[in-house]
Amino acid sequence: MAEVLVRKLNKKFDITHVVKDVDLEIHDKEFVVFVGPSGCGKTTTLRMIAGLEAVTSGEILIDNAVVNEVPPMDRDIAMVFQNYALYPHMSVAGNMAFGLKMRKFAKSEIETRIKRAADILGIGDLLHRKPRQLSGGQRQRVALGRAIVRDPKVFLFDEPLSNLDAKLRVQMRVELKKLHERLGTTAIYVTHDQVEAMTLGDRVVVMKDGVVQQVGEPLELYNAPANRFVAGFIGSPAMNFAEVTLSATNGTLWAVAPGFKIGLPAALAQRAASHAGKPATVGIRPEDLHIAAAGDPPELCFEVEAEVVEQLGSEILLDTRAGETTFVASVEPTLRVRIHDRLRLAMNPNRLHLFDARTEAAI
Ligand code: ATP
Repeated sequence: MAEVLVRKLNKKFDITHVVKDVDLEIHDKEFVVFVGPSGCGKTTTLRMIAGLEAVTSGEILIDNAVVNEVPPMDRDIAMVFQNYALYPHMSVAGNMAFGLKMRKFAKSEIETRIKRAADILGIGDLLHRKPRQLSGGQRQRVALGRAIVRDPKVFLFDEPLSNLDAKLRVQMRVELKKLHERLGTTAIYVTHDQVEAMTLGDRVVVMKDGVVQQVGEPLELYNAPANRFVAGFIGSPAMNFAEVTLSATNGTLWAVAPGFKIGLPAALAQRAASHAGKPATVGIRPEDLHIAAAGDPPELCFEVEAEVVEQLGSEILLDTRAGETTFVASVEPTLRVRIHDRLRLAMNPNRLHLFDARTEAAI
């Protein structure tokens, strides 16, 4: 069992408050990803869990024991850093053995563990090499190996794939996922990359300005973002937003902006009834827009002008404009469309999001 609990965790560097009242419950064997823009406090939160940063207030519990005052070495966690942090003068085997030697493990046990980790990571033939004789991907594997041999209660990963090129990053992402399947160790992973967060996390914690915005399974965040920030951060290309006023006419609640007007589907209109007459933000993902066809509800269709046509092979990303609002739409790759063409787009009625213009919370 290795549960990690974080209660009302705060961190201040002098007067700068960088982690604010963070509450988290990370279950045994879970892979939880902290994601958010640069400076949102995710690394600081991870470092407090690791014991590398003092807690200003709040509690951290590992397996029901408060560890606030426990030194990092005694927390039974292993951390993998972005810069690998390998000892340059030691061989791969030496790097992997170091933490175990410090903990006075028997030589035979160290050898068994290194062999096992090297087999898992496919680095058996690199054990005698020095870090400078390795590629970036191989170094990252060694850093993972060093964490694996410890057989810790919790793995902490701080942007471990950021220094790798795009292709290798995708490959290592898959390997990390397999590794977690195999070892089942509780893991906390920090990244600013929402794709990494969505693909790796059993659950994802989205942070902004030191505050947790939403915690949920990847699809939960994608389908039902709690606020405009999460809606815009999760998903690529990003969700489109239109600043509108809601106005009730003839039994329909309309979202209106200059050059743009749609009638909200009944369920959403019901939820938004108390917002009639007020400003709000409509959100729709590019993949939830399509070229309007006969069966589409007319109140969810609107006219746009094509401004940029990005042919990606598997889809076309159309940058369009309706009055003052721009919409990116992902459409069929076979569509013949040119800049300045006028088109009618339709929204998928079940995929429409609405946010309070002031609080930015989902309505
Ligand atoms: P990044 O992805 O850029 O690493 P992050 O979300 O991990 O960002 P943190 O590294 O946790 O963010 O930093 C949060 C805030 O705390 C930032 O504004 C940063 O400048 C500040 N900060 C971090 N460490 C210190 C420090 N030792 N002293 C003062 N301020 C710090």
